Formats: sequence, C-alpha cells, structure tokens
Amino acid sequence: MEVIRLDLGSLHVVEDPWPVHGFAVLHPQLGAILVDTGCGGPEILIREYRVVNRSIAAALQSHGLSPADVRLIINTHLHFDHCGQNPVFPGVVVHVQRAELERVRREGGMVWDWLESVDSRFELLDGETKLADDLRVVPSPGHTAGHQSVVAVTPRGVELFVGDAAFRRTIWERPDASDLPPGQADDLRTWEQTWRALRNMAPDVIHFCHDV
Ligand SMILES: [Zn+2]
Repeated sequence: MEVIRLDLGSLHVVEDPWPVHGFAVLHPQLGAILVDTGCGGPEILIREYRVVNRSIAAALQSHGLSPADVRLIINTHLHFDHCGQNPVFPGVVVHVQRAELERVRREGGMVWDWLESVDSRFELLDGETKLADDLRVVPSPGHTAGHQSVVAVTPRGVELFVGDAAFRRTIWERPDASDLPPGQADDLRTWEQTWRALRNMAPDVIHFCHDV
C-alpha cells in the first residue's frame, strides 16, 4: 500500500495561510482511494477563506494518476475544504459517517444546499468500519459531530489520517484547550476524548490535512 500526499493549495484562517491536503491511498485490492478532496463548494466560503485552490485532477496528475483511477472516496468530514472537489468524481461512492451527513442536514445552509445540488453517492457508515484487513475508518468526533479518521497498516507501521481531529502537529502533541485555533473543536469535551483515543493508538505516521 502506497500513500501519496496531494497538495491541494491553501486557505487562510484570519491572516494565517494553511496548507490543504488530501491523500491518495493506493491499495493492492481496493485500488486508488482518496481521503478528502480539498476545497470547493459554496463560492462565499472560497472567498471568505481566501482559498488558493489546486485542482485535485492536477494534483493526481503530478503523481501519474487521473480522476478515472479513483475507486472510492473517504471524507473525514463534510467541511468545504475536505469534500469540496467530490464532484470531480461522479459516480464514485463517498464513505462518510451517517452522523456527519445528519449534522450538515440539521445545520442546513449553504453547504447542505450545495451537497444536495451535486448528486453525491454517499455510503453512510455507523461507527468503525473495516474496508480491508489493513484499512479501516474510525469515528473521531469533536471537530464535527460525525468526523472520522482513517487507519492503514503499511510496512511503515500504523498510519493515521487524522483529518481535522488535529489541525496540526503541535495540537496533536500538546493540545492546550485554552489556546486552540478557531474551529478546532465544535464540542470540546468530545474532541478531547477523541484526541486521547487517537493518541492511545500510538500511530507511527500521522497525516495532517493542514500541516506539512
Ligand atoms: Zn479542514
């Protein structure tokens, strides 16, 4: 199994530029799997976060892949910078937690309107789900109610695609509840429980969406 980090541009939180990553996991049985697809969706969010977008097709191409190679998508959650380019892959099934889709439906607004308009093929997961012997998704709520992370077992060890359960390495290593960046925890207590559970997995490699 090979893991490729896809550079999908950047966004701005207040004045700080943040990188945006998705990941291609090349699985020997399942084929090419994407973990998150980068920024897209409602125009107003693209402007608000001053997104410098890179198309996922271009990112895949720079690694010798094309959108047609993608067999499956996993969205860690349904924020615009993680599922925004799902429509580049019409017909490809998107694995997301049922609780996450329900959150977006409940909150309504522009992201829900956009999701409804793009005709996604969601496979709704209820908790931990094994995709293969060496690949599974685990719920990691707190950033959002239905956030999930991905765990792969590779020759490098246990690789964790943490999603936005930790924006960056410093938060993963030493979260300071009084000094978290805006938006890190939608529900602080749940987020802290998730952080502890993910830390207890003692992953060998951690892939961040917003940290190089
Ligand atoms: Zn994000």
